[in-house]
Amino acid sequence: MSTSVLVINCGSSSIKYALVSEHRENRIFGLAENLGSAEARIKGITTGGAALELSIPDANHEKALETILERLSHHHPQAIGHRVVHGGTLTKAERLTPEIIERIRAATPLAPLHNPAHLVGIDATMRLFPELPQVAVFDTAFHQTMPAHAYRYALPKFLYTEHNVRRYGFHGTSHAYVSERGSALAGSLKQGGWLTAHLGNGSSTCAIWNGQSVDTSMGLTPLEGVVMGTRSGDVDPSIHSFLASNLGWDLYKIDKMLNNQSGLLGLSDLSNDMRTLIEASEQGNEDAAIAIEVFCYRLAKSLAALSCGLPRIDGLFFTGGIGENSAYIREKTLSYLPHFGFHLSQEQNNQLERGTEGRIDTGLGPQIWVIPTDEEGRIAKETVSVVESEVKQAAIKKSDFESAMV
Ligand code: AMP
Repeated sequence: MSTSVLVINCGSSSIKYALVSEHRENRIFGLAENLGSAEARIKGITTGGAALELSIPDANHEKALETILERLSHHHPQAIGHRVVHGGTLTKAERLTPEIIERIRAATPLAPLHNPAHLVGIDATMRLFPELPQVAVFDTAFHQTMPAHAYRYALPKFLYTEHNVRRYGFHGTSHAYVSERGSALAGSLKQGGWLTAHLGNGSSTCAIWNGQSVDTSMGLTPLEGVVMGTRSGDVDPSIHSFLASNLGWDLYKIDKMLNNQSGLLGLSDLSNDMRTLIEASEQGNEDAAIAIEVFCYRLAKSLAALSCGLPRIDGLFFTGGIGENSAYIREKTLSYLPHFGFHLSQEQNNQLERGTEGRIDTGLGPQIWVIPTDEEGRIAKETVSVVESEVKQAAIKKSDFESAMV
């Protein structure tokens, strides 16, 4: 099969898309945003790197997908890969069938902001392109190898057995891609113990042993774990009763505060954007400085905690907008982990060009790498592998049938 895959990531009012070709060159990608409003538009990069900006007033998800596919149809995508945040207990990428769609729907209470939007996109592409194979690739799937002592909460057992309350983890496609790519570059493909730090507007850490996730910082929802752009990460769970009793806040208000008004934004009272905070801190803004310090300290603490899942540490991979681009944040985070034997090369750390992969340690301790993530590439790869394995299975069945007829 020639492997041109359309990767789709549907949010509540936006759709990210990318056409990933077999050799992953000249990627076409873009974002349909403000869907459902007069300002709906598509912005992106088209063939040959040319910029695209297209107004699609009042377009909904289906109309936007139709427009995107019309523009891409001459590239003849062979399959569609959907990013789906929560797969519940699904452990791998799956061909979209009515049964799998039902299981995605059943996982909605665990990802109320994400899964309904994915289902809108899935529904539209299934109706628009019934002939194309479509695959769901789950953020949670990579972490299904975690042992029970990593994924269970210390809560009453029935909440787990009857209501699926457990740690799932997210950013799985990124942790999987980065650890596979990084460990290959380090000469130990999928072997040994690695820590990954995916640091973007959403951030998480992961411990990977012999290519499998053994622990991760996010939990039942993508709120648990390290400090993020607007998400608090770990807080004392009693914060809910404290705010309800003392400030009269309801659950909706507390949830919104923890998800949308906390993290770097909440700490700094300025911005969720790390670049803005670094600039402000350089100009003497103390709130920006403490936001950066809390971010790095808690990140280091998370990496140290996850190291308990690894028999040994071969190295650490940084990725995501912050992890890939900020030498300052990488250095500050590692300054809190001197007892792990990391030796950062200041020169290599500072000189690494934006968007490139490279090793940034001196060679005296565990390796440290920057690996730009490629979630779309990974989703395309998993989509192709699901479709190809189905084609193989069908060929085996056909040849079994033919031999039985002889
Ligand atoms: P992502 O969600 O992966 O796109 O990452 C977005 C985050 O990366 C934002 O907080 C940006 O400020 C941050 N970022 C991008 N470039 C830089 C940079 N050069 N230095 C620090 N942070 C950066």
